[in-house]
Amino acid sequence: MGECIFCRIVSGEIPAKKIYEDDLVLAFHDINPVAPVHFLVIPKAHVASMAELNAEHEAVMGRVMTVAARLAREQGATDGFRTIINTGRVGRQEVYHLHVHVIGGPDVLPAMLKR
Ligand code: AMP
Ligand code: ZN
Repeated sequence: MGECIFCRIVSGEIPAKKIYEDDLVLAFHDINPVAPVHFLVIPKAHVASMAELNAEHEAVMGRVMTVAARLAREQGATDGFRTIINTGRVGRQEVYHLHVHVIGGPDVLPAMLKR
């Protein structure tokens, strides 16, 4: 956990373009955006992935989702956006601190997955 990059962003050890922070969650711009709007919302307390969630995380994950919706609007994604949570090997998760991607912009996004 000491080496977790997103925990280090939470603690201020590593800089990030922060958008919002409260007692439970932090939102910041993705360092390698795939669309004009691309930010991440994370629980401040370390959770490795969505697969680790249990009932004790309900409050923080509720906060993650409501913050994601409000910030999407404020960041200009007023006509819709996509939220993605990559989980584990199959989900191609790269950073093992749970994060919700919020992706949008003026244009319609490509289809989610190729069939
Ligand atoms: P994934 O774990 O596959 O959902 O993707 C991790 C995401 O974190 C990628 O979109 C990266 O661009 C992003 N990322 C990695 N390091 C940083 C960082 N230091 N600041 C902001 N975003 C980051
Ligand atoms: Zn962490």
